[in-house]
Amino acid sequence: MSYNITLIPGDGIGPEVINAAKLVLENCGIGFNWDVVEAGENAIKKYGTPLPQNVIDSINKNKIALKGPVTTPIGTGFKSVNVTLRQIFDLYANVRPVKTFKGIPSRFEDVDLIIVRENSEDLYKGIEHMIGDDAAESIKIITRKASERIADFAFKLSVNEKRKKVTSVHKANIMKCTDGLFINCTRKIAQNYPEIEYEEMIVDAMSMKLVLSPEKYDVLVMPNLYGDILSDLAAGLVGGLGMVPGANIGLDAAIFEPVHGSAPDIAGKNKANPTAAILSAVMMLKYIGEFSAATKIENALRIVLENAKYRTFDLGGNTKTSEFAQAVVENMK
Ligand code: NAD
Repeated sequence: MSYNITLIPGDGIGPEVINAAKLVLENCGIGFNWDVVEAGENAIKKYGTPLPQNVIDSINKNKIALKGPVTTPIGTGFKSVNVTLRQIFDLYANVRPVKTFKGIPSRFEDVDLIIVRENSEDLYKGIEHMIGDDAAESIKIITRKASERIADFAFKLSVNEKRKKVTSVHKANIMKCTDGLFINCTRKIAQNYPEIEYEEMIVDAMSMKLVLSPEKYDVLVMPNLYGDILSDLAAGLVGGLGMVPGANIGLDAAIFEPVHGSAPDIAGKNKANPTAAILSAVMMLKYIGEFSAATKIENALRIVLENAKYRTFDLGGNTKTSEFAQAVVENMK
């Protein structure tokens, strides 16, 4: 059995970490037919657009993609490729497991939480405009449909992963309409899952509690913007952005990608930590039902991470991206 997968290397450190994940996947005992397509800055140079039609066609055909980060210009320029892909394929659930690994220098030892970020609306709808020269307006969209389906996704995930508690994160004390609707929906869906504990937390208090006692949290469900911010915060609790994978899941397609961006400050130096990309590949394997291959990679990765000899610079070492990937492959044998 071999799988047809769309591979988007992306910008900056994207090709380096995606190559590392590809190498590991190619040694896990399963066959892959890679359809390599370009999105982002390189695509602009070649096709005049950051998201060429062949990327969309490829994902439409294969339904599964492994993707590197793509640079998005700040303040001006083209619309985010990531947001556009999530909207085209209605990848409504962004799942980001945040976990401490033994041996990795971090402030905590027992973090094991999953951030479930609503991925289709909120301020990411991109409905914004200038009002004259001196004011600007951005519109926050929250719908019952999207809120109920992300809540249901979070509870189903909790049941499947044998989790105990879902925390709904909001700012409904201030945004009484939008976030008020969001928590009404999560509250309603919670009633269908009496075996899972349910609680609500205002996003500012949540930020403080995550920094103080992250081990108390299990599955967190939240609107798009809070999910974006809290997942980077949570990454900081377990060793940094190089450690946290992600999946964008819809009814018909899924894109797996690390939480981190294209990191232009370290691009092209073969020094990025590929753990997040490798773990994103592991999430992809679980999604397609290849659990034993996923476990094989996870076990090898754990051995490498526990060995102080293999530390990329962000974890205090000088192991190269490619050396790290090779070490994971060696430990899969
Ligand atoms: P970033 O995540 O690229 O980098 C933040 C910091 O973390 C940098 O210091 C970087 O060196 C470090 N870092 C990130 N990944 C790392 C890794 N694997 N190993 C070691 N260190 C790592 O965030 P940024 O600098 O704010 O964004 C850069 C670009 O990436 C922007 O254009 C942004 O829009 C884009 N971005 C894309 C995605 C995506 O495609 N999914 C996600 C986030 C940001």
